[in-house]
Order: sequence, then structure tokens, then C-alpha cells
Amino acid sequence: MSFDTNVLISGAGAAGLTLAIDLARRGVSFRLVEQNTQPFSGSRGKGIQPRTMEIFEDLGFVDRVAAAGGPYPPLCQYRPDGTHKVSLLTEAEVFPTLAEPYAAPLMLPQFATEAVMRERLAELGHHPRFGTRLTGFEQDAHGVTARMGGETGEHMIRARFLVGTDGGRSFVRHALAIDFPGDALGVRAIVADVRLEGLDRSVWHRFQLGSPATQVMICPLAGTDLFQVQAPVALEGEIDLSPAGLTALIEVRTGREDIAVRAVSWSSVYAMNARLADRYRVGRVFIAGDAAHVHPPTGGQGLNTSVQDAYNLGWKLASVLAGAPEALLDSYEAERRPIASNMLHLSTRLLGEARQGTMRRDREARQLDLGYRGSSLSAPGSMGGKVQAGDRAPDAPCRGQAGQRTRLFTVFQGFHWTLLGYQPHDRPSAIAGVRIVTVGAGHELADEDGDIAEAYGIEPGQWVLVRPDGYIAGIFSSDGLGPQLSRYLAHVLPSCPADTLEGS
Ligand SMILES: Cc1cc2nc3c(=O)[nH]c(=O)nc-3n(C[C@H](O)[C@H](O)[C@H](O)COP(=O)(O)OP(=O)(O)OC[C@H]3O[C@@H](n4cnc5c(N)ncnc54)[C@H](O)[C@@H]3O)c2cc1C
Repeated sequence: MSFDTNVLISGAGAAGLTLAIDLARRGVSFRLVEQNTQPFSGSRGKGIQPRTMEIFEDLGFVDRVAAAGGPYPPLCQYRPDGTHKVSLLTEAEVFPTLAEPYAAPLMLPQFATEAVMRERLAELGHHPRFGTRLTGFEQDAHGVTARMGGETGEHMIRARFLVGTDGGRSFVRHALAIDFPGDALGVRAIVADVRLEGLDRSVWHRFQLGSPATQVMICPLAGTDLFQVQAPVALEGEIDLSPAGLTALIEVRTGREDIAVRAVSWSSVYAMNARLADRYRVGRVFIAGDAAHVHPPTGGQGLNTSVQDAYNLGWKLASVLAGAPEALLDSYEAERRPIASNMLHLSTRLLGEARQGTMRRDREARQLDLGYRGSSLSAPGSMGGKVQAGDRAPDAPCRGQAGQRTRLFTVFQGFHWTLLGYQPHDRPSAIAGVRIVTVGAGHELADEDGDIAEAYGIEPGQWVLVRPDGYIAGIFSSDGLGPQLSRYLAHVLPSCPADTLEGS
């Protein structure tokens, strides 16, 4: 049976683009289709969390998003009595550490983030197919036959897998009859990207602090001359989103006549929901991103969680397509759904706090402590002094034996697994798909200042196996390393002959 492509990705938002970039760099064939004829032009998800920055580094465009965006400004909260206070968005000023190179969230409007992602995808030789809509599909034991509609008419695509990264109203989720339980939160809001006069760009202006129904938040969008206006509105009725309409809304709520909206480049009215899909996979079809979870924008979690869904799924699809056991794909839902469930609680809690004017984004919002302890992919009993299987693998500066400065994240970057040995006596023979790196005197990496030992709490003779998505798969001792690795890798790699490592 012939296939047009390995993976059909429906929806070229942040989740679809992440998956496409990951598959493209792995040389896995895919089609990325997008129903809109033009790229999305709104600011919506404007906050990029530190964990997502790490993923963007791995995918090769972190400096480009950093150059395009900027830090969040302080909040300026105006009280109804005319006083105001200035405070930070985070609980305190946060600084990078050796283990966490990105500390604070970056602000970049979603349209600009997606533009950088499309540019990265183009470098890898691919483009989304705009104006192409998934209109139906059927699956069998070997693949998915999908019907596409567009300006040039209907056509069929046969793919081994289909991934619906098609947003909160996901066609794929509906077609699979996956339940999407949760709550309507009884909050409707506007979001608009505007040019305006009367406010400076040094702070995020928040009017009507502690007055949930009449709040207005006006945020200068880094990297642009736009402001993003957000405000709750009545649950029913038309909202005037013209420059005059927004100027009037701001004047009524703030009492200020000196703020004038001159132009609106994008706007939307939306009702807030917190919903989580019952399943992320049916057979050869997956959902990821907002297709699998929707929630309030508070905390800046949605785009980030969507990127991280796709990043979790990409290497698993690539591995299974190359011959790894299909059961590996079950770990996608098992790992990602609990993360989304917790994120729904976080963003809903923060919505409540934002409405009272008390919201602070703390460490949890930065997503650096998310992980997969307890996952079937986290080798049981793997405990280091500081980390354990399932944890995010920390960064650490080190030096190559040739004398050059480097970092663990540079060693991890790419689509391989990494087996990091700390002052080992011997070294396993090469394993396809696994980069073996040893640390210590006479080894390829020097941990001169002890930063690797500090970050991992690792002891001489221990080995850390790091997944392609930067999480610790297992921590092993030299004794019995070969058989342990063989057993583990047989579940995740295309082929790992059981005897490859037995003698190591
Ligand atoms: C006001 C607001 C503020 C927000 N702030 C933040 C923030 O600060 N940080 C953050 O992380 N998140 C934020 N979010 C959430 C963020 O915007 C979303 O979580 C994110 O866009 C989800 O990305 P996605 O790729 O899953 O889906 P989407 O961005 O919705 O992309 C889905 C794509 O699929 C396409 N599509 C749909 N059906 C089909 C079909 N049948 N065929 C082909 N294509 C199809 C759609 O046209 C769309 O382009 C905010 C959201 C809002 C509303």
C-alpha cells in the first residue's frame, strides 16, 4: 500500500509548526496543512515560558525569538480610587542559573513567534500548505486516508499517521468523537491588537484593579508598536471592536479621556472554558495543543503547553516510523494529559486571582519543573543525588577536552538520545541513535568547576540517559549497564539488538 507521506499534520499554529520542525530536522516526511489562506495575525499567546525557550534552543531558533521579542514590563495597577502601584509580573525578579539558562518569560506576540517558526521550517525545506482544509478521514490498521478541501478542489492524502493540531474547536477531535469535558467559566473577554495614544510603553497598564467586571489591561507588545487590549465583557451581546468602540470602552472604564485607539490590527471576542480531552489518541490519529485542552489565558500557558505536546510526540512518531515498537506512542497521552490537567487548574486559579487583582506568576507558570516521573519511559529506581528519571535534564557549563567552552544543552541539541557517563572506567560500544559522552579527566568533556556534578548530583561511574526531548530516562551504574540499557532502549529505539551492549 503506498503512502503520500508519513505524517499528516492538520493546523499550522504553534503546535503544528513545532511538530513539523521536529519531523523536518529528523528527515521524516510530513504534510502540514492549514485551512486559513494567510498566517494568523493576532497576538493571543504572547508569553513564552523558559521551558519553551529551551525547546526553541533545541529546535534552532531561540535567539531569533529573543531578538524579535523582549522582557515583560512591570505591571502598573490602577485602583478605582485613582492610586496605582507598580509591581513585577513574577513573584520576584528571576535570574538565569547555570542549570536554567532561561529564567523569565519572554514576550513575543503569537503572530511573530509563528513567523519565526515558519522561517525555521523553511530553512529545513518545508512550508505549511495554506488554504488546505482537512474535511474528513478514515483509518485502518496501516494508515489514515484523509480528504482535503481547498481552492483547487478536493483531494485525498494517504498518511501513516494523522495529528490534529487544529485548535480548540478541533475537527479531528470531533471526528474521533473524543469527549471534551470541563467547564464554561462564565467569563467572556475581548482581546485586540491596537495602535493607541495616551499611554507609555514602559509598563503593562491594568485598570480597575480588583473590579472583575470592569477591568481593562493594556500591554505594550514587545517587538512591535502595538498594544494588546484585554477586557472582560458581558456574556451576551455585540461588542464594538472598532477604534472608536475601544476608545469609548477604555474611557468608560478608566475615566481617562486622553487614551485614544487609532487603529485595530486584529481583535477577537471569546468565552473562557477549561476543558480537557478524554483521549489524545485513537489508533493512528492524535490530537495535540488546544485541540486537546482549552483554558483561560491567565498565566500564559496555552501556546507553551501546545509546543510541548508536539515536542513530546515528534520523536516518538519518528522512532516508531523507523521501526520502534508502536506501544511507545501510548506514552504520549500518558505523559502529556496529566500535565494539561494540572495546567487547567493553574490557569483557572490564576484567572480568579487576576479578577481580584492579586495575580502573580510564580515558578510553576515557568514550566521548568514539569516532568514525567512515574511514566513508563522513566526507568524505575533511577535516582541521582539531585535528579531522577522523568525530570528535566538540567543544563551545565563544561569544557571540551580540545579546550572549548560548551554546555550540556549543546551536547543534547539534536534528535539523538544522550548517554552521559561521569568518570566511567569503560564505555559501551556505539548504539545507533545514542550519543555517548563521557565526562572527567581524560574524557571528552571536562567538568572543571563541578557544575555537572552539582546539577545532577551524579557520582563517578554513574550514567545518565537523556531522551531526545531533554528529560532523564534513567540513571544507571556501570555494573550491568549494558543489559539495563538494552532492555530500556528496546522499547524506544528502532532497533537495539539485545547483545549490542551485553559485553560493556
Ligand atoms: C487572549 C489570549 C491570550 C493568550 N495568551 C497566551 C500566553 O501568553 N501564553 C500562551 O502560552 N498561550 C496563550 N494563549 C493561548 C494560545 O493562543 C493557544 O494555546 C495556542 O494558540 C494553541 O496553539 P495550537 O497550535 O494548539 O492551536 P491554534 O493556534 O488554534 O492553531 C490551530 C490551527 O489549526 C487550523 N485548523 C483548524 N481546523 C483545521 C482544518 N480542518 N484543516 C486545516 N487547518 C485547520 C486553524 O486555522 C489554526 O491555524 C492565549 C490565548 C488567548 C485567547
